[in-house]
Amino acid sequence: MTDSSSIGTAVSDATTRLAAVSESARLDAELLVARSINMPRSYLFAHPEDDLDESAQQRLEYILERRLRGEPMAYITGIKEFWSLELVVSPATLVPRPETETLVSLALQEIPRQAEWQVLDLGTGCGAIAVAIANERCNCAITAVDSSIDAIAVARQNVRQLDLSNVTCLQGDWTHPVQNRQFRVIVSNPPYVRANDAALETLRAEPRMALLAGVDGLDAIRILARDCRSILENDGVMMLEHGADQQRSVADILTSCAWEQIQCHNDYAGNPRVTLAHRPAGQP
Ligand code: GLN
Repeated sequence: MTDSSSIGTAVSDATTRLAAVSESARLDAELLVARSINMPRSYLFAHPEDDLDESAQQRLEYILERRLRGEPMAYITGIKEFWSLELVVSPATLVPRPETETLVSLALQEIPRQAEWQVLDLGTGCGAIAVAIANERCNCAITAVDSSIDAIAVARQNVRQLDLSNVTCLQGDWTHPVQNRQFRVIVSNPPYVRANDAALETLRAEPRMALLAGVDGLDAIRILARDCRSILENDGVMMLEHGADQQRSVADILTSCAWEQIQCHNDYAGNPRVTLAHRPAGQP
């Protein structure tokens, strides 16, 4: 139990405890204290001397312990910023990552502002990529697919909250729900973590099915390489997020499925992260 009596002390005590598990201990502490008193973070700076009453202290201790056990801030607060949008997230979905904004940015470079294209997001999770594109390209129709019923419910909630009328969320396995459709752009941040990856320890609060893709982490990418050609228009492009060390294997998989103009782009941290592949015009 924390014995902090003021907001200021509660923040500094929580910061000290969080330093062991978080690289953003101070910010996490501020957000958790703000949440425990149900006020915006800005309130803390104006009222550091205010008392934290008994029930606020209990609420703080509860969420602090969740964070200390490694739960991401986003699951505790239920929200995460992505592409300047505030998204609802739940433990049924991955927490959207900054590197996935690279995928959004590349997609927006491909889609002209006024385009009325059909765009598909496979493995949408909380819908981050789909809603970010939909929000910037309001004449495009985005279809967002995920195999998890719970994830699709979260994606639908984000579509509703952002008041987007150009996103349809469908539950199903990869291309199955859109078998007879054609898209100009297909985007995906599929699971790509290896079965025995040491990083899984730090990702333990997140859904395994959104992370893991076989021994080499490439099983989902193999499915997409095989199944997406037939639902892509001539001249269409597919964009896949992948691990920083998977660039070469992803290119090989795509080449073996007859994809062309394969190009990898780095994320903001300088790691190879998103590969684009084309379906040339006129090919079956
Ligand atoms: N980028 C995530 C991570 O390693 C993995 C996401 C994924 O598998 N799509 O933290």
